Amino acid sequence: MEHCDILIVGAGPAGSSLAWALSDNEYDVIVMDKQTFPRNKVCAGWVTPAVVENLRIDINDYRKEHVLQPVLGFLIGQIGSHETETYSEENPISYGIRRCEFDHYLLERSGARLKLGESFREMARADNLWIVNDYIRSPIVVGAGGHYCPVARCLGTKVKHSEAVIVAQETEFRMTPEQSEKCKINPDVPELFFCEDFKGYGWIFRKGDILNIGLGREDKDKLSEHVKAFCEFLRQWGKIPQDISYKFYGHAYLSYQHSLRQVLADGILLIGDAAGLAYAQSGEGIRPAVESGILAAQVIKNAKGNYSSKNLDSYRQLITKRFGRRKTTFDIAKMLPDDFKKILAHKLLTNHWFARNVIINNWFLHAYQQPLLINKPA
Ligand SMILES: Cc1cc2nc3c(=O)[nH]c(=O)nc-3n(C[C@H](O)[C@H](O)[C@H](O)COP(=O)(O)OP(=O)(O)OC[C@H]3O[C@@H](n4cnc5c(N)ncnc54)[C@H](O)[C@@H]3O)c2cc1C
Repeated sequence: MEHCDILIVGAGPAGSSLAWALSDNEYDVIVMDKQTFPRNKVCAGWVTPAVVENLRIDINDYRKEHVLQPVLGFLIGQIGSHETETYSEENPISYGIRRCEFDHYLLERSGARLKLGESFREMARADNLWIVNDYIRSPIVVGAGGHYCPVARCLGTKVKHSEAVIVAQETEFRMTPEQSEKCKINPDVPELFFCEDFKGYGWIFRKGDILNIGLGREDKDKLSEHVKAFCEFLRQWGKIPQDISYKFYGHAYLSYQHSLRQVLADGILLIGDAAGLAYAQSGEGIRPAVESGILAAQVIKNAKGNYSSKNLDSYRQLITKRFGRRKTTFDIAKMLPDDFKKILAHKLLTNHWFARNVIINNWFLHAYQQPLLINKPA
């Protein structure tokens, strides 16, 4: 048997942020992941400045060995239309990273003991402890295994039959020098094109020679067809070189508003995608993953070794305080006829005030929400 104080299952941004937030507190923390690192993760690789601040990332240090693309603005449009709005600032309003690098960097500085290349298989309760995979004993297990987190399943989540998911496909590749020269995407200004029915959007994001193209939607139907139509639109408009061939990879995750997952039980907390926390309109999930990790660290410290669900309940309250109340099932937008929504979407997307204040500042940057202050020595 092996013992630890906290076992975190999943070494994505949620798991490594929690481990990092606990690292000065003399806890023996294990982070387990079924993959070895660095590993790829399907993602556009866009992070908001709050993530950098929450995690106290020194961007000058980070960019020495990793891709870090400052984003000064966004171009917004609709798939099929050449009318666009561009919004930009002088200072970075976001950054572009590569998940294979970013997640590895966060994990390496987390200070935790790592068990990589090991899958969580099962856990059993014995004397107020969890015994994981038959040999690791821990008083608390934190599920940070993403959307299909096996610990979430132990809380009764029926992952594949659960709530409405965001489904997305993405490809990221290094362009040849010739392709780079022909590519018309400005690295400072990623481009976002909303679907006609406003149920999702495609993006094209250049980070130096790396190009990332993807599309996410809030309904599962015909995702590949939407992706194909989006690529065709980009090609026809000359946004991407004709000779690029790419393979798309897909993944699903829950938006906070639609998630019904329990986030805790006796000796268990869920963080990040495992808890279903991504922002609904933008699909941004890294910031909620990081912030839930930081909030979980606060709750674990305050629990002082008593991890009963009653004693962990403040986590639920902190999540609600931070991300708001989950929406009720009544959604007025769903009651509007599709044709009306299409016309409305077009009008809104081509309105400068709406694009800047609602889409960029509110939906994408969450500019109203300050980074979390973390109680950790500098
Ligand atoms: C196409 C796409 C584009 C996206 N783009 C963005 C973006 O640009 N910006 C943004 O903020 N968000 C984006 N997101 C969302 C974002 O990727 C997630 O919200 C984020 O990765 C959640 O982090 P996490 O740590 O909770 O989970 P993950 O990053 O999914 O990490 C979970 C980890 O758990 C491990 N794991 C899973 N099962 C097991 C097991 N049985 N045993 C052990 N380990 C296990 C996995 O190997 C993985 O390393 C995008 C999502 C998609 C699908």
